[in-house]
Amino acid sequence: MACALLTLVRGARRHMNTVVVEVCSRRFVLPLECPCCGAPPDAELIVPFRASRREMAEDTAREALFPYCRRCIEHVDHWDAGSMTAAAITLLGIAAGALLGWSVGLVAGMLVFVLLAIVGHLVRAQIHARAATQCGRSCVSTKRAVEYYGWSGSTTTLCFTSPSYTARFAEHNSADLVSVAPALRRLLEANVEARRRVPTPAVAAVIPLSSSDPAAWIEHIERLPTRVLRRVAATRALALVTSQAERERIVAAACRWELAPFFERLEHTSRRQRRARIERFAEQVSADNLPPALVGAMLAQLGVEADACGGAKQGT
Ligand SMILES: [Zn+2]
Ligand SMILES: [Zn+2]
Repeated sequence: MACALLTLVRGARRHMNTVVVEVCSRRFVLPLECPCCGAPPDAELIVPFRASRREMAEDTAREALFPYCRRCIEHVDHWDAGSMTAAAITLLGIAAGALLGWSVGLVAGMLVFVLLAIVGHLVRAQIHARAATQCGRSCVSTKRAVEYYGWSGSTTTLCFTSPSYTARFAEHNSADLVSVAPALRRLLEANVEARRRVPTPAVAAVIPLSSSDPAAWIEHIERLPTRVLRRVAATRALALVTSQAERERIVAAACRWELAPFFERLEHTSRRQRRARIERFAEQVSADNLPPALVGAMLAQLGVEADACGGAKQGT
């Protein structure tokens, strides 16, 4: 289907790195597939906020969590390692060049700087080439296939390298799309046409779509391998379970899964440090892509833990 879609969107393909998706909410629905190769996700990738010319709100999330497959995370990590190594070598070249320029002479300094810049470039090219060999045939990019541009106060902006994933994401969030630009419209139409030609099974194989039994959901969610899959499943469970008491059971369980690793990391910290870290974490939770009911429960629990640490709230 991905091939069919790529053929169908020939017109949009030249824009494929610049098709931006904007949704009018902090929260967005994640397609259950790897944004790079389209495989079922068995891992997750933390995508850091990327600054752009768009003005973002101060309380934007600093990162977004995406389902990914392990193989693609490996080639992305490899790519990033190549870029960071090259940057470190270039910085070393600047420092060594400045030192030599000052102590020996300008020509010696320039020579060392140019030499280390060339070494950095070659090392990066070699590591990136090795990362490319780790990609599968359906990988859309050797580097990260998702960019997260943050929350502006009214919209969340994202960009994906894969045209099919862009269309899938837009479909999943159609109710919250701010506008559909011509390039995105072409992708959506091509995706519908590709699915008509090559029907694919629902992607919800890892989620029991129809269950409204909270115990079944909790048991199911506990078995899921990643935090992001648990979040997706909890969101779906809360959409299907209507009884308030049963929803609260799911929220309480999800709250435990989300907070347990954070509280483990707080062991052996002083009360003052503990309180400061809880307050910072509460800010992250408020900005994160989580169901509102879960955000409320997590903030309440974090408030109780912060109060138990004593002391005044920071910044007041
Ligand atoms: Zn993948
Ligand atoms: Zn990949």
